Amino acid sequence: MKITKIDTFTVKGLAWPWLFCAVRTDEGITGYSEFGFGRLAHGIVGLVKDFEDVLVGKDPRPVEQNYEAMRRMSEYSFGGATQQAIAGIELALWDIKGKAAGMPVHELLGGPTRSEQRVYWSHLATYQVAFSEILGTPAVESWDDIRALVRQALDAGYTGFKTNFVTPGGGGRRPLFLTSTDKVASRDFLADAVTQIETMRDEAGPDIDIMVDINQNFRPEGQIKIAQALEPYDITWLEIDNLSADALKKVRSSTRTTILTGERLLTTHEYYPYFEAGAMDVIKLDLQWQGLISARQVANMAYHYEMNVAPHNFNGHLSTFQTMNLCATVNNVKISESDPVQTPWRDELFTNVPEISGGMVKIPDGPGWGTDLNEDAAAKYLVDG
Ligand SMILES: [Mg+2]
Repeated sequence: MKITKIDTFTVKGLAWPWLFCAVRTDEGITGYSEFGFGRLAHGIVGLVKDFEDVLVGKDPRPVEQNYEAMRRMSEYSFGGATQQAIAGIELALWDIKGKAAGMPVHELLGGPTRSEQRVYWSHLATYQVAFSEILGTPAVESWDDIRALVRQALDAGYTGFKTNFVTPGGGGRRPLFLTSTDKVASRDFLADAVTQIETMRDEAGPDIDIMVDINQNFRPEGQIKIAQALEPYDITWLEIDNLSADALKKVRSSTRTTILTGERLLTTHEYYPYFEAGAMDVIKLDLQWQGLISARQVANMAYHYEMNVAPHNFNGHLSTFQTMNLCATVNNVKISESDPVQTPWRDELFTNVPEISGGMVKIPDGPGWGTDLNEDAAAKYLVDG
């Protein structure tokens, strides 16, 4: 079997574009992937094009060998968007290998380690505040509206949810998007933040997992204030994307709140300082950005440190199928992410949608990832240009 061509699709998503890769072969098998950070679509798609030259004519099935060929070719532009482009191709190669073998990807790697995976409802309130017009949902105008969103997740059977800091009213102000580059956690912000989590905890009750993600919006000084202010509400983690392992260690040492990080890290080389510093309690992986080889290396590194991972997954359904295959190849998953409220045209883009019930996703058992990109549907929603 030989690779004949690699195509990419940049498709309209809710917050920013979604990227898909299709690796085509001379035996009629096409491998698909969902990958990369869509706001850098032109650059990442361009990088995929650069890698196409070294892969056309090669057998797609020795995935590790093809992965190393791409890594070696790009040694002087290591990490970042380069790794995300490599991930797009690598993930599509796994899909080909699974389809050729008639097995799910997890089975190629010794799985499944589980038959279903617990997930949390992510971006609760965040998306409804920011994108109510696209979603066709009511504007979020009060803390009671926030309560109703919590109730919606619980009624759907989820036992955990994640939110970002939002403030209802005025069309839904999002303080995090308005935070200046100074990244100050002001007194007003902290007061609203406490009100939000207090309201959510009150509505959810004591038995529901609540996660909070502040991304890279504050300095460690503000991160400490937020982490300490949330201690009474027993959140499952505070998610912080902080590029200094030492600074994050200081945050973690200052609070009883559990700290998760890793979303901005892609390879074991980048995660290593955080492991060594003892800067995190739970580790974020992102298969779509890292690729399966790197994500499993990090999960296995976490295993060495007696720690659990929590995969990032906020895009289309192929991303969920890929992530569930990853979960089914490792033994140290705390919980995974899922976005029940998303782009209205999401279901159209895929041949299969995930089976979710009671906050649990069934591990896919179809060949490859278990779903394909519907290329005709993708063509309808391409980002112009
Ligand atoms: Mg995050």
